[in-house]
Amino acid sequence: MKSYNKSKLLFNEALRHISGGVNSPVRAFKAVGGDPIYMERGEGAYISDVDGNKYLDFCCSWGPLILGHAHPVIVEAIKKTAVRGTSFGTVHEAEILVAKKIKSFCPHIDLLRFVSSGTEAVMAALRLARAFTGRDKIIKFSGCYHGHSDYLLASAGSGLATLGIPSSAGVPEKFTKETIVLSLDAPDQVEAAFAEFGGDIAAVIIEPIPANNGLLLQSKEYLQYLRDITTKFHSLLIFDEVISGFRVRPGGAVEYYGVIPDLCTYGKVVGGGLPVGAFGGRVDIMKHLAPDGNVYQAGTLSGNPLALACGLATLEYLEQNDAWKELESKTARFCDKMRSSIFDVPVNIVNIGSIFWINMQRETAARAEQIGPEVKDRFAVLFHKALESGIYLSPSAYEVGFISTAHTEEDLGDTADRLAGIIVNNI
Ligand code: PMP
Repeated sequence: MKSYNKSKLLFNEALRHISGGVNSPVRAFKAVGGDPIYMERGEGAYISDVDGNKYLDFCCSWGPLILGHAHPVIVEAIKKTAVRGTSFGTVHEAEILVAKKIKSFCPHIDLLRFVSSGTEAVMAALRLARAFTGRDKIIKFSGCYHGHSDYLLASAGSGLATLGIPSSAGVPEKFTKETIVLSLDAPDQVEAAFAEFGGDIAAVIIEPIPANNGLLLQSKEYLQYLRDITTKFHSLLIFDEVISGFRVRPGGAVEYYGVIPDLCTYGKVVGGGLPVGAFGGRVDIMKHLAPDGNVYQAGTLSGNPLALACGLATLEYLEQNDAWKELESKTARFCDKMRSSIFDVPVNIVNIGSIFWINMQRETAARAEQIGPEVKDRFAVLFHKALESGIYLSPSAYEVGFISTAHTEEDLGDTADRLAGIIVNNI
């Protein structure tokens, strides 16, 4: 049995100083039980905790670490940049370099803005969409997460006539009543919402690869349908590519599915492990941002030189090594290996690009509502057995796993066998 004594001591101390002991709720292990583990080192595909335990890491900081931990090109980029100053609060050249690199991957983007998180990117994109259309309502989908801004912390009301209800205390109902929450993969619901509110809908926002409530893959036809109906009603289509951007393809889900939104939001991979978010899209929309336009958006550390240096190093490395194909094929082999060993167990495995999800039920899911409550306890068993066996999965049944360029075939083959063994023997 692994010992977690030092982690436990640290967590008890943290509880006295940091609310809930954590700086983001899912880090607290509430969904799987037990106390969080204090990590102190990351190297390639592995992380080590303060008690000396080592794990193959499938959380990868929730997605940004597509090159694994402490990749030499990232460490070098940080060193080279830091000695010249960590922040100026002025314009600097790396902003242009990263913007040009993103545009070379994403021809649907004319202009960009950098911010410091995915939440900020989405907040700004929505404000812009509302200003551009002169409308207030937003359609979002149940199971898609777009950060913790007030308007988007909305749950579905019962029926379309009741609009979104706050899913967090402290969010006024007045704010979420402009947010319509629909099921994914249900064109009839979108049709009905546009029939009722069409002229008031500023934008439809979706994770084109929904990866925050399991991995709820949507069809190209459905995404194209969203494109068509938003065009018809002069609403904007916003793809939240905070997870999928630069991960599934250089051009993210837009390239994967060939459906072109009006605006896109990015985060995670684009910062290579440092805090970066971005949003961008059509010039006629983006030009409404201050200082040229009347939509206010700002940030003291936006486009931070250190963070953008890491983003650029990540994107250049991925491009120079044509890493996306290899990431995708090794993720597929890893998932196929697990699937072939667990075929008669009520678990199914979903993958796209270098993202995978172990869905702890037999039924597949394209909507959040299709995931049964039993997955939670089943996953908690898998999570703790995996941990004991040196495998770090993100601590919730609804979180996906990420594979980096640092995960080797050997790591993955062996881990697929061990995870399948745990599933077959315990689930
Ligand atoms: N959008 C999506 C699709 C996300 O996955 C996340 C974070 N998981 C966010 C927005 C918010 O990003 P951040 O945590 O950087 O604010």
